[in-house]
Amino acid sequence: FTPEKIRNFGIVAHVDHGKSTLADRLLELCGAVPPGQQQMLDKLQVERERGITVKAQTAALKYQGYLLNLIDTPGHVDFSAEVSRSLAVCDGILLLVAANQGVQAQTIANFWLAFEKNIQIIPVINKIDLPGADIKSVETQLKNLFEFNSEECLHISAKSGLNVEKVLDAIVERVPAPTANVNAPFRAMIFDSYFDHFRGAIAHIVVKEGSVRKGDKIRSYQNDKSYDVTEVGVMRPEMVKCTEVRAGQVGYLVCNMRTVKEAVVGETLFAAETPKESVQSFAEIKGVKPTVYAGLFPVETADYESLKQAVERLCLNDPSVTVTPDASKALGLGWRIGFLGVLHMEVFGARLSQEYDASVILCQPSVEYRAKIKDNESIRKKRYDGMEEVRILDPSKFPEESDVDSFLEPMVKVRMIVPNEMMGTVNGLCSECRGERGEISSIDTSRLMILWRLPLAEVAVDFFERLKKLTSGYASFDYEPDGWQETRLVKLTILINGKEVSEFSQILPAAMARDRAKTLVQRLKREIPRQQFEVTIKACIGSSTKALSQIVIQPMKRDFSQLLKGNFGGGGMERLNKKLSHQKKGKERMKMVGNIQIPKEAFLNVLKN
Ligand code: GDP
Ligand code: MG
Repeated sequence: FTPEKIRNFGIVAHVDHGKSTLADRLLELCGAVPPGQQQMLDKLQVERERGITVKAQTAALKYQGYLLNLIDTPGHVDFSAEVSRSLAVCDGILLLVAANQGVQAQTIANFWLAFEKNIQIIPVINKIDLPGADIKSVETQLKNLFEFNSEECLHISAKSGLNVEKVLDAIVERVPAPTANVNAPFRAMIFDSYFDHFRGAIAHIVVKEGSVRKGDKIRSYQNDKSYDVTEVGVMRPEMVKCTEVRAGQVGYLVCNMRTVKEAVVGETLFAAETPKESVQSFAEIKGVKPTVYAGLFPVETADYESLKQAVERLCLNDPSVTVTPDASKALGLGWRIGFLGVLHMEVFGARLSQEYDASVILCQPSVEYRAKIKDNESIRKKRYDGMEEVRILDPSKFPEESDVDSFLEPMVKVRMIVPNEMMGTVNGLCSECRGERGEISSIDTSRLMILWRLPLAEVAVDFFERLKKLTSGYASFDYEPDGWQETRLVKLTILINGKEVSEFSQILPAAMARDRAKTLVQRLKREIPRQQFEVTIKACIGSSTKALSQIVIQPMKRDFSQLLKGNFGGGGMERLNKKLSHQKKGKERMKMVGNIQIPKEAFLNVLKN
């Protein structure tokens, strides 16, 4: 295929609008898979279970003498970084909108991602077979928001296959051919990579110049390493070896890269004989930073080593997670893991248990805070490595308040699409979450687009669940990072009979402390069994002992001495022995905090999300 006969395109859509279904139909129509095989591109088990696409996959399709490369994109807010990467390869996208739901928050986010990259956008209205389909109103939204004319919009049913062929024709007609020069030395960009246990790092590439074959010697620009190419091929969507991948094409490449870090997205690969000075490198694709952190521990401390391996392997395929070792008195050795968002965290946990059969405890997520240290040389030097601004992730390293000028918390911009009548409810929720109101505009006669600036800490807990509940699922949302804001932070300390239990300590904005204190204390009351004596649980701020929230667990009413007295005869002794041995076994599962026994499960249940 010459570049004029190639089209590189992607599909973007709000979750559930039919991206995977349409991809399946396109694959069938082009003979890449037999009809009826479902969700070819959603390879991961979590993706199938949750119906979301996590990792972008690609497929090369042949249609009427053209080569159409479908670059699949993930469909959830936490993975917008992956959408961006995929778009770096596309010359056009299908913007899919379900006719019964209309434009949603992620439709808008995806539109702007593509628009900013100057990519041809083809609006496609899907699910027109549904009784609730309202094509006219979706066309109005597409016109109002993005200035698409109704003639540009395709009307399809990805489920039944109606008009899907027209989608292929539109791709051929409207998406420009890739700019590519076959008669130049090899140059390509890595747009995705993953780790295969047998072959090592596999790089997905788009070739811009020249071609690449097995046996070629190539170099990387950013990492500046040399490699021998051991295999090249294309995705159909499974990997198929071929003799060469040429300019304009999308394919994969295997060379002796040891980790996916070497196959970093945005990396430029070029022919080894080209002098590096003359190579034009691709713009570095911004690495995405984690926004949400959570402790990860094995359920059984003995499983630490095997879990470590599983975490390492999973991380090879997910360069956006960060891992630092962590240790807890109650939970043993573990890690503190950084995620792109709460969904990313859940998906990571699910993959660990599904793909690596590991039972893990993922603790309540927290966000990164920062502190500006007072402009005092000796304080900075003595306690903060001379730094002006420090990151705060760990409650045990919470700075002295007297050292701090101000604290900062990360903010996000949240975009929501809601029915008109729900504006009050949604605004109420957002202001409860310490938000700052942004623009409100109507996208058609019945729905509004509402913007708010919210602290990430509020969003990370259960904002989206609450929003969905309050709006009976009629609100859609999307968010992006939006800088930092000064805030007052406190350390919430849990005291059990006057002794701090550091596992439960947390850093959080002062405004959230009272609610969190209450929840923690309630959960602890539920989890800690009665002891021989009274137990007082208090949640306090910092080193103060004044309780924000407090609860008392009454002592056991009947102890075993009473049992002994009353029930000596009639098998009582036997029962008592049984009970005592049961209690002894139970003790091994208990952690002693001072003289109080706390079941290990309590730590899990209290810290669990
Ligand atoms: P994705 O999240 O965008 O990948 O959406 P999916 O392709 O997984 O589709 C979500 C749901 O909508 C599935 O239950 C599909 O069967 C259904 N669906 C997709 N396209 C159509 C369509 O054209 N008509 C109808 N009635 N249902 C569809
Ligand atoms: Mg999908």
